[in-house]
Amino acid sequence: MSNFEFENLIVNIPDYPEPGVIFKDITPLLADPQGLAAAIDQISDHFMKAGITKVVGAEARGFLVGAPVAYRLGAGFVPARKPGKLPREVYSQEYALEYGTDELQVHKDSMGPDDKVLIVDDLVATGGTAVATAKLIEQTGAKIVGFSFILELCYLNPREEIAKEYPQEVYTLI
Ligand code: IMP
Repeated sequence: MSNFEFENLIVNIPDYPEPGVIFKDITPLLADPQGLAAAIDQISDHFMKAGITKVVGAEARGFLVGAPVAYRLGAGFVPARKPGKLPREVYSQEYALEYGTDELQVHKDSMGPDDKVLIVDDLVATGGTAVATAKLIEQTGAKIVGFSFILELCYLNPREEIAKEYPQEVYTLI
């Protein structure tokens, strides 16, 4: 399984969502039974012995990767959601986008100091979403064990961005 050719199931979409941007469409990978299983298994196997108790994924594609990884690890899944989506008391973390800011929230009682957390998403580009998710988790007192993504846009140096604040492992498949 570890030699799975994930690249063949990622489609490059030029000039989407705006001119000059090449969007990486991972939906063909999710739609492929072997591809989906290989991606989820590879991430889960890598962190199997790390004692992960919670997997956190950011809205919305982080949910698609995070929930099955959590299931495989025997951990819980916590969604980091956009403002106004979670019905009870939340912690919030703002972060900068290319234009303006965005915000992620988790329920205050979703995790705590006894938890060991893996942060996952489909793709890491600048690392901004990952760092914001990590800061959000820190507010709960939980311990961050690592980061994992199906796809890493290496030319944007997300590892450097994450490493500025978090020395934890970053594990990516592509
Ligand atoms: P970052 O915060 O710049 O690292 O961007 C990562 C976030 O944006 C993730 O939640 C991704 O789902 C999303 N994203 C950015 N670029 C792409 C892309 O080319 N394809 C799919 N998702 C993307």
